[in-house]
Amino acid sequence: MRDRCGRSITYLRLSVTDRCSLRCRYCMPAGGVPKRDHRDICSVEELVEIARAAADCGVRKVRLTGGEPLVRRGILDICRGISAIPGVEELCLTTNGAALPQLAKPLKEAGVDRLNVSLDTLRPDRYAYMTRVGRLEDALRGLEAAEEAGFAGTKLNVVLMKGFNEDEIPDFVDLARRYPLEVRFIELMPIGEGGSAPFLPAQAVLDACPDLRPAKGSGVARRYRPPGGPGLVGLIEPMSHRFCGDCDRIRVTADGKLKPCLHSDQELPLRGLHGEELRRAIETGIAAKPERHHMNETGRSEAGRNMHQIGG
Ligand code: SAM
Ligand code: SF4
Repeated sequence: MRDRCGRSITYLRLSVTDRCSLRCRYCMPAGGVPKRDHRDICSVEELVEIARAAADCGVRKVRLTGGEPLVRRGILDICRGISAIPGVEELCLTTNGAALPQLAKPLKEAGVDRLNVSLDTLRPDRYAYMTRVGRLEDALRGLEAAEEAGFAGTKLNVVLMKGFNEDEIPDFVDLARRYPLEVRFIELMPIGEGGSAPFLPAQAVLDACPDLRPAKGSGVARRYRPPGGPGLVGLIEPMSHRFCGDCDRIRVTADGKLKPCLHSDQELPLRGLHGEELRRAIETGIAAKPERHHMNETGRSEAGRNMHQIGG
């Protein structure tokens, strides 16, 4: 379905939990999230029903996110349910990777096509600092497990932060020189906790690695190829280059609110709706998608939630 600006909306980012095994400084408060009653969060059946209704409205790709989707009870049932929906051509999942050693194979068997693994540093001490509770070796073991389970086209999400991982840009690009994966450098967005972390423009990647050659873009990413390497480097630049004109996505939070735009506080409740009513609510959300965000002018997002409560 097209929105009122003529954009074709084919991509649903579905958050399955707002909880997480890590506490990344730019995403989560130090104390984590207040425990919620499980009834406040969509059930497995509700999530699958929402994805099915979204597919009826033209969605072809679904990404499961969170919080950390792999801490969600019933994650494999959610994957099995959504991958079986006619019309869903691709099921992806974004994860911090720590639980992949146990879950990569079952996720593959449950119909997940592709993974994005978030990793902002390759230094154990920095990883422990940024995630507050995480261990780099767990994330690296997770990446290995994904490969062993047969996942191809895995993307690495790296949030750029000035004074934190700026000096590691060449090391990350080297991964794309050596392995067939896409390293995606993401500009930090001033959402919730992200507002107080140090911003670094994605141009820093091109400055640090001038030999990168432009490649065909994909979705909202500008892409480059390291000469001779099997991998790709992607730049996601919500702050430097607004890509709202190419936005093809809607989001649903774990508590069942449809967010037509990540950076707007506009939310449409979906819980309790079924069949035609649910489809109509999703169509209304698509139609109401704002033309663009205003972060570049105001320096802040109007998301109204922390990132772990939306899913990125
Ligand atoms: N826990 C999973 C993970 O970390 O991959 C999935 C949820 S996380 C919210 C999704 C992505 O959003 C991660 O790649 C994370 O680094 C990114 N992210 C979180 N806060 C951000 C911010 N303020 N600006 C840009 N990206 C952010
Ligand atoms: Fe958790 Fe992902 Fe947020 Fe880090 S970025 S705290 S792993 S939800």
